Amino acid sequence: MTLQPPPLRNDCFALPAGVDWKPVDQALALLRERLHVVTASEEIPLYQALGRVLAEPLIAQRSNPPLPNTAVDGYGMVGPIPEGSHVLPLVGERAAAGPAVETPLPEGHAIRILTGAALPPGVDTVILQEDVTLGEGEIAFRGPLKKGANTRKAGEDVTEGQELFPAGRVMTPADLALATATGLSRATVRKPLRVAVVSTGDELVDMGGTAHAGQIFDANRPMLLAMAARMGFEPVDMGRVSDDRELLRARLDEAAERADVILTSGGASAGDEDHVSALLGQAGALQMWRIALKPGRPLALGMWKDRPVFGLPGNPVAALVCALIFARPAMGMMAGMGWVEPQGMDLPAAFEKRKKPGRREFLRARLRDGKVEVFASEGSGRISGLSWAEGLVELADGACEIRPGDPVRYIPYASFGI
Ligand code: AMP
Ligand code: MG
Repeated sequence: MTLQPPPLRNDCFALPAGVDWKPVDQALALLRERLHVVTASEEIPLYQALGRVLAEPLIAQRSNPPLPNTAVDGYGMVGPIPEGSHVLPLVGERAAAGPAVETPLPEGHAIRILTGAALPPGVDTVILQEDVTLGEGEIAFRGPLKKGANTRKAGEDVTEGQELFPAGRVMTPADLALATATGLSRATVRKPLRVAVVSTGDELVDMGGTAHAGQIFDANRPMLLAMAARMGFEPVDMGRVSDDRELLRARLDEAAERADVILTSGGASAGDEDHVSALLGQAGALQMWRIALKPGRPLALGMWKDRPVFGLPGNPVAALVCALIFARPAMGMMAGMGWVEPQGMDLPAAFEKRKKPGRREFLRARLRDGKVEVFASEGSGRISGLSWAEGLVELADGACEIRPGDPVRYIPYASFGI
């Protein structure tokens, strides 16, 4: 009799029975509840604050605009102007952006005024230059004009003393404009969160090294370091460790010295060579999170010398998805941003997909012509799919059958801060 291999099990792709798979939302709620800010604050010049996290709210020191001014090039007068045709003599002075004209406008006169100029005393209404005929020292135009036409009120944008941004705000280029316009020049921000990244695995070779048969290049480390940098954190490259428990222990010790949080990849399952989970287990601080998530199980969470460790899966696709879904909001909390949810949008699918209930799924996706395309293969080893994609599609925990045109949740990479 020839030896027969066992038949494929019916449930070979099913989730293990009797295991308590934690839904994604439960896992996220736990992180949100347990984590808090760990970074100190410092005061810096505002012009250096791009991408930094406010430790204290920013308060407007001045109104914007500070004085009533004109929104257009034209002629200033006293409003309102009734219907009909009007001829007004011009005063000799001209109001341009810069030092304000101090002479009050005499009754029944108009003054040449240019965009951004503060309204001279008495002026409350401006007519567009296109709407007047200019004569010798006078203008002719037709009414009516409402009082206040074409002008901006002082403080109509922001008033002095108003809170511009709460603590936790990550400063954008526009924020620098607003804060500067309202008289600020310094900000109290959080020191960047230091994120250590360690790769584990005997099979790994550093970028630029020589890969022999059976070896692969360490792709996760540059990805996770770059991700941390993009998110505004300070990446700390802790290199690669072979599957050796003592070496890994020493490396984690060093990472805990140099960083606020540690991301490892690989070795996070429960096998013989899964030293990340083993060490966290020995330290008595391991939480194996069997998260009902594809791609990406399991996630080993723990504390190492008071630093949270995210033991990400080794597979680059799963490592990135787990980092975006779990590590990113967790790091945001620690960095002082508060809990940040990636903003997605519901858009029509350009694909078909059938999904069983019981876990959340993320597909590598991109937006083309207003429709969401997904990468042709869901193979979790396909790094090229991560690159092809410009975001992820999130499929809810329940069963679903998606047909072309059905709305799906698309979350661009940018919403994750990368
Ligand atoms: P592990 O979680 O250590 O069992 O690894 C799962 C899979 O991911 C294996 O095929 C590893 O070779 C691969 N892997 C682990 N770490 C990396 C890495 N840093 N870069 C690329 N692939 C990796
Ligand atoms: Mg490994």
